[in-house]
Amino acid sequence: NEEMMVRSEKMSVAGQLAAGIAHEIRNPLTSLKGFLQLMQAGVNRKEEYYKIMIDEIEKIETITTELLFISKPLTDNKKVESVSAMLDDVIALLSPQAKLNNIEIKKLFSEDVTIYCDRSQLKQVFINLFKNAIEAMNHSGTIKLQVSRRHPSIEIDVIDEGVGISEEIIHKLGEPFFTTKQTGTGLGIMITKQILERHNATLEIKRNPDIGSTFRIIFPAKLD
Ligand code: ADP
Ligand code: MG
Repeated sequence: NEEMMVRSEKMSVAGQLAAGIAHEIRNPLTSLKGFLQLMQAGVNRKEEYYKIMIDEIEKIETITTELLFISKPLTDNKKVESVSAMLDDVIALLSPQAKLNNIEIKKLFSEDVTIYCDRSQLKQVFINLFKNAIEAMNHSGTIKLQVSRRHPSIEIDVIDEGVGISEEIIHKLGEPFFTTKQTGTGLGIMITKQILERHNATLEIKRNPDIGSTFRIIFPAKLD
């Protein structure tokens, strides 16, 4: 196992991705094939099988959708954008999922700041972080958003009250396909980091003192 870890560290990111994709897509395909063969053989639990097969297809769908995002030509469309307005958009977008889970997403700041960014990419970052926060919280609680100027940077904190992150895995977050979830893809944080890199911004992941985690985006001041 240790040998495998050493090897995977030497593998290029593209190589790791390719290996991951092959693995992640082969499993649901194997399962789909198996169920089709059962149906071909004339079993009579078709209704049950349809549901499993649709789930497997959805898994492949999710993975390919996320991968398409990575492979998109990176034409950045950077402008001066209001952080508050982008957060509002994403809060609205995820409000059904939050409500369903009894979770409130709350802005702790009143003074707005602007950052120089590609709006749709930054929204994707917030979507990924909010989704993880919702998924980490056990159907209740508050996700807090804080924005602070720390001259010359701007910090955006997503503070959750979720299950938290253990020391053992905290450094693995952002490796392609690293997930602890049954239906996770393990691509969200990797994509988030890639987008932030394109903005010369960074992501800090911290364990909160009492409960949950904080994901901090550190955004550079606009230089030109
Ligand atoms: P996915 O959500 O599909 O698992 P991500 O890349 O978004 O993939 O996250 C990778 C892993 O990081 C998750 O499976 C989870 O273990 C951990 N993680 C991410 N965000 C949080 C969070 N807010 N609280 C606790 N664990 C988290
Ligand atoms: Mg995720």
